[in-house]
Amino acid sequence: MDTIIIKNATLIGGQTADILIRDNKFAAIKPNINFQADKTIDATDKAVIPAFYNAHTHAAMSLLRGYGEGLNLADWLSAVWKKEATLSNEDYYNGTRLAALEMIKSGTVFFNDMYFKSPLVLAAVRDMGIRARIGMTFMDSMNSETYNDNIDFIEHFDRTNNEMIDIAIAPHSIYTCSSELYLKCFELAQKHNLTLHTHIAETQKEVNDCLKEHRMTPVQYLSSLGILNSRTIAAHCVHLTQQDAEILAANKVTVVHNPCSNMKLASGIFPYKLHKAAGTHIALGTDGSASNNSLSMLGEMKAASLLAKVSSQDAQALPAEEVFKWATSNSAQAFGINAGRIEIGYLADCLLIDLNGVSFVPEHNIISSLVYASDTQCINSVICNGKILMENHIVPKEREIIAAAKKFIK
Ligand SMILES: [Zn+2]
Repeated sequence: MDTIIIKNATLIGGQTADILIRDNKFAAIKPNINFQADKTIDATDKAVIPAFYNAHTHAAMSLLRGYGEGLNLADWLSAVWKKEATLSNEDYYNGTRLAALEMIKSGTVFFNDMYFKSPLVLAAVRDMGIRARIGMTFMDSMNSETYNDNIDFIEHFDRTNNEMIDIAIAPHSIYTCSSELYLKCFELAQKHNLTLHTHIAETQKEVNDCLKEHRMTPVQYLSSLGILNSRTIAAHCVHLTQQDAEILAANKVTVVHNPCSNMKLASGIFPYKLHKAAGTHIALGTDGSASNNSLSMLGEMKAASLLAKVSSQDAQALPAEEVFKWATSNSAQAFGINAGRIEIGYLADCLLIDLNGVSFVPEHNIISSLVYASDTQCINSVICNGKILMENHIVPKEREIIAAAKKFIK
Protein backbone atom coordinates (compact mmCIF):
# COMPACT_ATOMS: atom_id res chain seq x y z
CA MET A 1 0.00 0.00 0.00
CA ASP A 2 1.60 3.25 -1.14
CA THR A 3 -1.13 5.81 -0.44
CA ILE A 4 -3.58 6.21 2.43
CA ILE A 5 -6.21 8.92 2.68
CA ILE A 6 -7.68 9.77 6.09
CA LYS A 7 -11.02 11.56 5.57
CA ASN A 8 -12.66 14.10 7.92
CA ALA A 9 -9.98 13.99 10.62
CA THR A 10 -10.14 16.41 13.54
CA LEU A 11 -6.73 18.06 14.02
CA ILE A 12 -5.39 19.11 17.44
CA GLY A 13 -6.56 22.70 16.93
CA GLY A 14 -10.12 21.49 16.30
CA GLN A 15 -10.25 22.07 12.52
CA THR A 16 -11.30 19.26 10.14
CA ALA A 17 -9.14 18.07 7.24
CA ASP A 18 -8.28 15.13 5.00
CA ILE A 19 -4.77 13.76 5.31
CA LEU A 20 -2.96 12.12 2.40
CA ILE A 21 -0.09 9.78 3.17
CA ARG A 22 2.15 8.89 0.25
CA ASP A 23 4.75 6.17 0.86
CA ASN A 24 6.01 6.97 4.36
CA LYS A 25 5.30 10.72 4.58
CA PHE A 26 2.41 13.13 5.03
CA ALA A 27 1.86 14.48 1.48
CA ALA A 28 -1.18 16.76 1.90
CA ILE A 29 -3.34 18.05 4.79
CA LYS A 30 -6.37 20.12 3.79
CA PRO A 31 -10.17 19.86 3.52
CA ASN A 32 -11.74 17.81 0.70
CA ILE A 33 -8.73 16.16 -0.89
CA ASN A 34 -9.95 14.48 -4.05
CA PHE A 35 -7.62 11.52 -4.50
CA GLN A 36 -8.18 7.83 -5.13
CA ALA A 37 -5.82 6.29 -2.58
CA ASP A 38 -4.98 2.60 -2.12
CA LYS A 39 -6.66 2.76 1.29
CA THR A 40 -9.32 5.13 2.65
CA ILE A 41 -9.90 5.58 6.39
CA ASP A 42 -13.01 7.39 7.60
CA ALA A 43 -11.93 9.53 10.58
CA THR A 44 -15.30 11.10 11.32
CA ASP A 45 -15.40 11.76 15.11
CA LYS A 46 -11.71 10.92 15.36
CA ALA A 47 -8.70 13.09 16.06
CA VAL A 48 -5.42 12.49 14.25
CA ILE A 49 -2.48 13.24 16.50
CA PRO A 50 1.27 12.44 16.54
CA ALA A 51 2.22 9.00 17.85
CA PHE A 52 4.44 8.51 20.92
CA TYR A 53 8.21 7.88 21.04
CA ASN A 54 9.30 6.06 24.21
CA ALA A 55 12.77 7.46 24.92
CA HIS A 56 13.90 4.92 27.54
CA THR A 57 12.81 1.34 28.13
CA HIS A 58 13.97 -2.26 28.52
CA ALA A 59 11.42 -3.95 26.25
CA ALA A 60 11.79 -7.68 26.94
CA MET A 61 11.42 -6.97 30.67
CA SER A 62 7.71 -7.16 29.86
CA LEU A 63 8.04 -10.84 30.83
CA LEU A 64 9.07 -9.77 34.35
CA ARG A 65 6.09 -7.47 34.93
CA GLY A 66 4.92 -7.86 38.52
CA TYR A 67 8.22 -9.37 39.62
CA GLY A 68 10.37 -7.65 42.29
CA GLU A 69 7.55 -5.62 43.82
CA GLY A 70 8.16 -3.34 46.80
CA LEU A 71 11.94 -3.04 46.36
CA ASN A 72 14.16 0.00 45.97
CA LEU A 73 16.46 0.23 42.93
CA ALA A 74 19.50 -1.54 44.44
CA ASP A 75 17.50 -4.54 45.78
CA TRP A 76 15.26 -4.56 42.72
CA LEU A 77 18.29 -4.73 40.36
CA SER A 78 19.80 -7.71 42.17
CA ALA A 79 16.43 -9.54 42.10
CA VAL A 80 15.86 -8.76 38.43
CA TRP A 81 19.41 -9.65 37.32
CA LYS A 82 19.00 -13.11 38.89
CA LYS A 83 15.75 -13.63 37.01
CA GLU A 84 17.17 -12.30 33.74
CA ALA A 85 19.91 -14.93 33.89
CA THR A 86 17.17 -17.57 33.39
CA LEU A 87 15.75 -16.01 30.19
CA SER A 88 16.28 -17.99 26.99
CA ASN A 89 16.81 -16.56 23.50
CA GLU A 90 13.17 -17.34 22.72
CA ASP A 91 12.13 -15.38 25.82
CA TYR A 92 13.96 -12.25 24.60
CA TYR A 93 12.18 -12.54 21.26
CA ASN A 94 8.74 -13.16 22.79
CA GLY A 95 9.24 -10.53 25.50
CA THR A 96 10.16 -7.86 22.95
CA ARG A 97 7.13 -8.76 20.82
CA LEU A 98 4.88 -8.54 23.90
CA ALA A 99 6.33 -5.11 24.73
CA ALA A 100 5.92 -3.91 21.14
CA LEU A 101 2.31 -5.10 21.15
CA GLU A 102 1.62 -3.18 24.37
CA MET A 103 3.31 -0.11 22.91
CA ILE A 104 1.34 -0.22 19.66
CA LYS A 105 -1.94 -0.66 21.56
CA SER A 106 -1.06 2.40 23.65
CA GLY A 107 0.01 4.53 20.65
CA THR A 108 3.80 4.19 20.75
CA VAL A 109 5.63 3.69 17.43
CA PHE A 110 9.25 3.96 18.62
CA PHE A 111 11.24 2.79 21.61
CA ASN A 112 14.78 3.41 22.76
CA ASP A 113 15.83 0.08 24.24
CA MET A 114 18.60 -1.03 26.56
CA TYR A 115 18.77 -4.78 26.95
CA PHE A 116 20.51 -7.95 25.86
CA LYS A 117 20.46 -10.46 22.96
CA SER A 118 20.21 -7.76 20.30
CA PRO A 119 19.74 -10.07 17.26
CA LEU A 120 16.52 -11.41 18.84
CA VAL A 121 15.32 -7.92 19.79
CA LEU A 122 16.01 -6.87 16.20
CA ALA A 123 14.00 -9.81 14.80
CA ALA A 124 11.05 -9.01 17.08
CA VAL A 125 11.12 -5.30 16.14
CA ARG A 126 11.18 -6.12 12.41
CA ASP A 127 8.30 -8.51 12.94
CA MET A 128 6.15 -5.84 14.61
CA GLY A 129 6.82 -3.00 12.12
CA ILE A 130 7.65 -0.52 14.88
CA ARG A 131 10.64 1.87 15.01
CA ALA A 132 13.40 1.20 17.55
CA ARG A 133 16.85 2.19 18.70
CA ILE A 134 18.39 -1.03 19.96
CA GLY A 135 20.87 -0.33 22.74
CA MET A 136 23.93 -2.57 22.85
CA THR A 137 24.27 -2.87 26.62
CA PHE A 138 27.71 -2.83 28.22
CA MET A 139 28.60 -3.59 31.86
CA ASP A 140 31.88 -4.54 33.57
CA SER A 141 30.30 -7.83 34.66
CA MET A 142 29.61 -9.07 31.12
CA ASN A 143 31.75 -11.97 29.91
CA SER A 144 34.15 -11.60 26.98
CA GLU A 145 31.91 -13.65 24.68
CA THR A 146 28.96 -11.25 25.15
CA TYR A 147 31.27 -8.25 24.83
CA ASN A 148 32.71 -9.57 21.55
CA ASP A 149 29.21 -10.42 20.26
CA ASN A 150 28.19 -6.80 20.89
CA ILE A 151 31.23 -5.42 19.07
CA ASP A 152 30.64 -7.81 16.18
CA PHE A 153 26.97 -6.81 15.96
CA ILE A 154 27.88 -3.09 15.97
CA GLU A 155 30.56 -3.51 13.30
CA HIS A 156 28.26 -5.43 10.94
CA PHE A 157 24.91 -3.73 11.53
CA ASP A 158 23.36 -2.44 8.28
CA ARG A 159 22.37 1.18 8.98
CA THR A 160 20.56 1.96 5.73
CA ASN A 161 16.99 3.14 6.43
CA ASN A 162 18.02 3.88 10.02
CA GLU A 163 14.89 5.94 10.69
CA MET A 164 13.10 2.61 11.33
CA ILE A 165 15.71 0.62 13.22
CA ASP A 166 19.13 1.70 14.41
CA ILE A 167 21.47 0.69 17.20
CA ALA A 168 22.90 2.67 20.12
CA ILE A 169 25.82 2.16 22.48
CA ALA A 170 24.43 1.64 25.98
CA PRO A 171 26.86 1.60 28.90
CA HIS A 172 24.41 0.79 31.70
CA SER A 173 25.43 3.24 34.46
CA ILE A 174 28.37 4.59 36.46
CA TYR A 175 27.84 1.93 39.13
CA THR A 176 28.10 -0.96 36.62
CA CYS A 177 30.68 0.47 34.17
CA SER A 178 34.29 1.59 34.77
CA SER A 179 35.62 4.82 33.27
CA GLU A 180 37.60 2.65 30.80
CA LEU A 181 34.39 0.98 29.62
CA TYR A 182 32.62 4.34 29.26
CA LEU A 183 35.52 5.64 27.17
CA LYS A 184 35.46 2.53 24.97
CA CYS A 185 31.69 2.97 24.52
CA PHE A 186 32.16 6.64 23.63
CA GLU A 187 34.82 5.70 21.08
CA LEU A 188 32.40 3.20 19.47
CA ALA A 189 29.59 5.77 19.41
CA GLN A 190 31.87 8.37 17.78
CA LYS A 191 33.28 5.91 15.26
CA HIS A 192 29.84 4.76 14.07
CA ASN A 193 27.94 8.02 14.61
CA LEU A 194 25.59 6.41 17.14
CA THR A 195 23.72 7.68 20.18
CA LEU A 196 25.11 6.79 23.60
CA HIS A 197 22.36 5.74 26.00
CA THR A 198 22.99 5.51 29.75
CA HIS A 199 21.35 5.87 33.19
CA ILE A 200 22.51 8.96 35.13
CA ALA A 201 21.81 10.14 38.72
CA GLU A 202 18.82 7.86 39.24
CA THR A 203 19.17 7.59 43.03
CA GLN A 204 20.74 9.54 45.89
CA LYS A 205 22.90 6.47 46.62
CA GLU A 206 24.45 6.69 43.13
CA VAL A 207 25.31 10.36 43.77
CA ASN A 208 26.72 9.70 47.27
CA ASP A 209 28.89 6.80 46.06
CA CYS A 210 30.16 8.89 43.13
CA LEU A 211 31.03 11.82 45.42
CA LYS A 212 32.91 9.43 47.69
CA GLU A 213 34.82 7.72 44.88
CA HIS A 214 35.45 10.57 42.43
CA ARG A 215 34.72 13.76 44.45
CA MET A 216 32.31 14.65 41.66
CA THR A 217 28.60 14.24 40.99
CA PRO A 218 27.68 11.62 38.33
CA VAL A 219 27.09 14.39 35.74
CA GLN A 220 30.42 16.10 36.56
CA TYR A 221 32.17 12.72 36.42
CA LEU A 222 30.75 11.78 32.98
CA SER A 223 31.44 15.30 31.77
CA SER A 224 35.06 14.96 32.95
CA LEU A 225 35.32 11.80 30.80
CA GLY A 226 34.17 13.90 27.85
CA ILE A 227 31.26 11.65 26.89
CA LEU A 228 28.37 14.16 27.11
CA ASN A 229 27.19 15.60 23.80
CA SER A 230 24.09 16.05 21.64
CA ARG A 231 24.01 12.30 20.92
CA THR A 232 23.91 11.36 24.63
CA ILE A 233 20.58 10.05 25.95
CA ALA A 234 20.58 10.29 29.75
CA ALA A 235 17.82 8.36 31.49
CA HIS A 236 16.49 9.64 34.85
CA CYS A 237 18.71 12.63 35.90
CA VAL A 238 16.73 12.86 39.14
CA HIS A 239 19.36 13.88 41.73
CA LEU A 240 21.11 16.91 40.29
CA THR A 241 22.70 20.17 41.35
CA GLN A 242 22.00 23.35 39.42
CA GLN A 243 25.47 23.04 37.90
CA ASP A 244 24.68 19.45 36.78
CA ALA A 245 21.55 20.63 34.96
CA GLU A 246 23.56 23.42 33.32
CA ILE A 247 26.25 20.93 32.18
CA LEU A 248 23.57 18.71 30.61
CA ALA A 249 21.96 21.69 28.86
CA ALA A 250 25.29 23.15 27.65
CA ASN A 251 26.26 19.79 26.15
CA LYS A 252 22.81 19.41 24.50
CA VAL A 253 22.23 16.05 26.22
CA THR A 254 18.68 14.64 25.99
CA VAL A 255 17.36 13.91 29.48
CA VAL A 256 14.71 11.19 29.66
CA HIS A 257 12.18 11.54 32.46
CA ASN A 258 10.66 8.25 33.74
CA PRO A 259 8.25 9.40 36.44
CA CYS A 260 6.40 6.12 37.17
CA SER A 261 9.57 4.07 37.60
CA ASN A 262 11.18 6.80 39.75
CA MET A 263 8.12 6.87 42.01
CA LYS A 264 7.56 3.11 42.15
CA LEU A 265 11.19 2.32 43.08
CA ALA A 266 11.16 5.33 45.44
CA SER A 267 14.20 6.67 43.55
CA GLY A 268 13.25 10.33 43.89
CA ILE A 269 11.47 13.33 42.41
CA PHE A 270 12.52 14.64 38.99
CA PRO A 271 13.66 18.27 39.45
CA TYR A 272 11.41 19.81 36.80
CA LYS A 273 12.11 23.45 37.71
CA LEU A 274 15.87 22.87 37.73
CA HIS A 275 15.79 21.36 34.24
CA LYS A 276 13.43 24.04 33.02
CA ALA A 277 15.67 26.85 34.32
CA ALA A 278 18.75 25.25 32.75
CA GLY A 279 16.93 24.61 29.46
CA THR A 280 17.70 20.88 29.15
CA HIS A 281 16.17 19.00 26.21
CA ILE A 282 13.68 16.59 27.81
CA ALA A 283 11.98 13.50 26.41
CA LEU A 284 9.69 11.00 28.12
CA GLY A 285 10.15 7.27 28.71
CA THR A 286 8.44 4.49 30.63
CA ASP A 287 11.53 2.53 31.76
CA GLY A 288 10.92 -1.25 31.76
CA SER A 289 7.76 -3.17 32.60
CA ALA A 290 9.27 -4.57 35.80
CA SER A 291 9.59 -1.11 37.37
CA ASN A 292 6.60 0.79 35.99
CA ASN A 293 4.69 -1.67 35.32
CA SER A 294 3.13 -0.25 32.16
CA LEU A 295 4.56 0.81 28.81
CA SER A 296 1.76 3.30 28.15
CA MET A 297 2.97 6.82 27.43
CA LEU A 298 -0.50 8.09 28.34
CA GLY A 299 0.01 7.09 31.99
CA GLU A 300 3.55 8.44 31.87
CA MET A 301 2.44 11.87 30.62
CA LYS A 302 -0.16 12.18 33.37
CA ALA A 303 2.29 11.07 36.06
CA ALA A 304 4.98 13.48 34.82
CA SER A 305 2.66 16.44 34.77
CA LEU A 306 1.11 15.75 38.17
CA LEU A 307 4.50 15.07 39.77
CA ALA A 308 5.92 18.36 38.43
CA LYS A 309 2.92 20.28 39.74
CA VAL A 310 2.81 18.77 43.23
CA SER A 311 6.59 18.77 43.74
CA SER A 312 6.87 22.44 42.78
CA GLN A 313 3.51 23.37 44.33
CA ASP A 314 2.75 25.19 41.10
CA ALA A 315 -0.36 24.23 39.11
CA GLN A 316 1.18 25.84 36.01
CA ALA A 317 4.19 23.50 36.06
CA LEU A 318 4.45 21.09 33.11
CA PRO A 319 1.17 21.73 31.26
CA ALA A 320 -0.39 18.96 29.13
CA GLU A 321 0.87 20.54 25.88
CA GLU A 322 4.47 20.55 27.15
CA VAL A 323 4.50 16.94 28.37
CA PHE A 324 2.82 15.87 25.10
CA LYS A 325 5.73 17.51 23.26
CA TRP A 326 8.21 15.57 25.44
CA ALA A 327 6.45 12.32 24.46
CA THR A 328 6.28 13.13 20.74
CA SER A 329 8.44 15.67 18.87
CA ASN A 330 11.12 16.17 21.57
CA SER A 331 11.76 12.44 21.70
CA ALA A 332 11.71 11.92 17.91
CA GLN A 333 14.12 14.84 17.51
CA ALA A 334 16.56 13.36 20.03
CA PHE A 335 16.90 10.27 17.82
CA GLY A 336 17.11 12.18 14.53
CA ILE A 337 13.67 10.94 13.42
CA ASN A 338 11.79 13.52 11.33
CA ALA A 339 8.48 12.82 13.04
CA GLY A 340 6.27 13.88 15.95
CA ARG A 341 4.15 16.36 13.98
CA ILE A 342 1.20 16.02 11.60
CA GLU A 343 2.75 18.23 8.93
CA ILE A 344 3.55 17.85 5.24
CA GLY A 345 6.98 16.29 4.72
CA TYR A 346 7.12 14.64 8.15
CA LEU A 347 7.25 10.84 8.49
CA ALA A 348 3.73 9.42 8.52
CA ASP A 349 3.41 8.29 12.14
CA CYS A 350 0.04 9.07 13.75
CA LEU A 351 -2.79 7.90 15.97
CA LEU A 352 -6.53 7.98 15.40
CA ILE A 353 -8.23 8.91 18.66
CA ASP A 354 -11.90 8.11 19.27
CA LEU A 355 -13.59 11.41 20.15
CA ASN A 356 -16.84 9.63 21.02
CA GLY A 357 -15.11 8.06 24.02
CA VAL A 358 -16.28 9.50 27.35
CA SER A 359 -12.84 11.02 28.12
CA PHE A 360 -13.14 13.40 25.15
CA VAL A 361 -16.64 14.72 25.87
CA PRO A 362 -16.86 17.69 25.89
CA GLU A 363 -14.12 18.42 23.39
CA HIS A 364 -12.73 21.61 24.97
CA ASN A 365 -9.08 20.63 24.73
CA ILE A 366 -8.01 17.40 23.03
CA ILE A 367 -4.50 17.37 24.52
CA SER A 368 -5.58 17.96 28.12
CA SER A 369 -8.25 15.22 27.77
CA LEU A 370 -5.60 12.92 26.31
CA VAL A 371 -3.09 13.56 29.12
CA TYR A 372 -5.39 13.76 32.15
CA ALA A 373 -8.60 11.89 31.28
CA SER A 374 -7.98 9.17 28.70
CA ASP A 375 -6.80 5.58 28.74
CA THR A 376 -5.49 3.36 25.93
CA GLN A 377 -9.04 2.47 24.84
CA CYS A 378 -9.21 5.89 23.14
CA ILE A 379 -6.58 4.78 20.62
CA ASN A 380 -8.47 3.36 17.65
CA SER A 381 -5.72 3.01 15.04
CA VAL A 382 -1.95 3.42 14.77
CA ILE A 383 0.08 4.27 11.66
CA CYS A 384 3.88 4.05 11.57
CA ASN A 385 5.99 5.00 8.55
CA GLY A 386 2.87 5.04 6.35
CA LYS A 387 1.85 1.50 7.40
CA ILE A 388 -1.14 0.59 9.53
CA LEU A 389 0.03 -1.27 12.66
CA MET A 390 -3.38 -1.28 14.39
CA GLU A 391 -6.78 -0.69 12.80
CA ASN A 392 -9.97 -0.45 14.88
CA HIS A 393 -8.06 -1.77 17.94
CA ILE A 394 -6.85 -4.88 16.10
CA VAL A 395 -3.15 -5.72 15.84
CA PRO A 396 -2.50 -8.77 13.65
CA LYS A 397 -0.85 -11.65 15.57
CA GLU A 398 -2.04 -10.25 18.93
CA ARG A 399 -3.36 -13.62 20.19
CA GLU A 400 -0.26 -15.48 19.08
CA ILE A 401 2.04 -12.96 20.84
CA ILE A 402 0.09 -13.18 24.10
CA ALA A 403 -0.01 -17.00 23.97
CA ALA A 404 3.80 -17.15 23.48
CA ALA A 405 4.36 -14.82 26.46
CA LYS A 406 1.99 -16.83 28.67
CA LYS A 407 3.94 -19.98 27.84
CA PHE A 408 7.03 -18.36 29.42
CA ILE A 409 5.15 -17.52 32.59
CA LYS A 410 3.95 -21.12 32.97
ZN1 LIG B 1 16.22 2.02 32.84
